[in-house]
Amino acid sequence: MSQTLAKMRFNCAKARETVERTKTEHFAIGAFNIDNQDTLIAICKAAQKTKSPLMVEVSHGEVKAIGLQNLRCMVDNYKLEYGIEMYINLDHSPDVESAKKGIDAGFEFIHIDVSQERHDASVAEIIEATKEVVSYAKFTGALVESEPHYFGGSSNVHEEAFDYEEIKKSFSTPEDAKHFVEATGIDTFAAAVGNLHGSYPVPKQLDLELLSRIRNAIDCNISLHGGSDTPGHFFEEAVKIGVSKINVNSDMRRVYRDTLVKVLEDNPSEYAVMKLMPTVIDAIADIVEGKLKSFNAVGRAVV
Ligand SMILES: [Zn+2]
Repeated sequence: MSQTLAKMRFNCAKARETVERTKTEHFAIGAFNIDNQDTLIAICKAAQKTKSPLMVEVSHGEVKAIGLQNLRCMVDNYKLEYGIEMYINLDHSPDVESAKKGIDAGFEFIHIDVSQERHDASVAEIIEATKEVVSYAKFTGALVESEPHYFGGSSNVHEEAFDYEEIKKSFSTPEDAKHFVEATGIDTFAAAVGNLHGSYPVPKQLDLELLSRIRNAIDCNISLHGGSDTPGHFFEEAVKIGVSKINVNSDMRRVYRDTLVKVLEDNPSEYAVMKLMPTVIDAIADIVEGKLKSFNAVGRAVV
């Protein structure tokens, strides 16, 4: 069942209040991808245990797998059942139409990322598309996130290391960030300061000095994508500097698959797979809980 417009606006207004609180209370809202109900349950358990506000997020592929309305209903139902503060983020929506559908479905956070689909999209094209989504989002009050560049990596476990010097070339600059924020009117700027999609053999490192300079250059919220495989102390510092949202996917995917493989191997005669899932769910919940602690989000939920 779809939400009423009044409900959508209420949720979006509350999401905005929480994002505002990230600035004064110095914490970040964790954004955790889901591609099935097990992962959603794990996120809810971690949110309930730590009393942290958070958002589930879905990429284009994950939306295809579950469905926009189904996601909205699942999140609303679990939010009530667990008594938690939880929102939905449409992650890396590849075009304006997809973003509009997320807004229509009552998602509180919309990330429009034209360059994900078309790596060669010009800054002018990205600005144009982002402006259209910002304008459309005013209907519900959804918060719009974007950036003028393509984010490297993919949300998977990679065997290959990455070349940090090469990654540096795609870092955000304070000047570009300021121009993009002013040209688009976005709520949240997705900064690239060493964060990279995916999990790699070497841990990532964030350029916190650059993050500080970007923070000083723009007024809007800042998000960090690619929060997996990053030592927690970087996040502790990043939230002090002023990051409002941090995305995590690969760390959860890794523990999901590895734990599932192990419980299947350990229980070769069990065909009621749901009986094996609590172990998997608890392993994912532990990952989420660890992230929420490093985001300084514990105890920040307002239900
Ligand atoms: Zn991302």
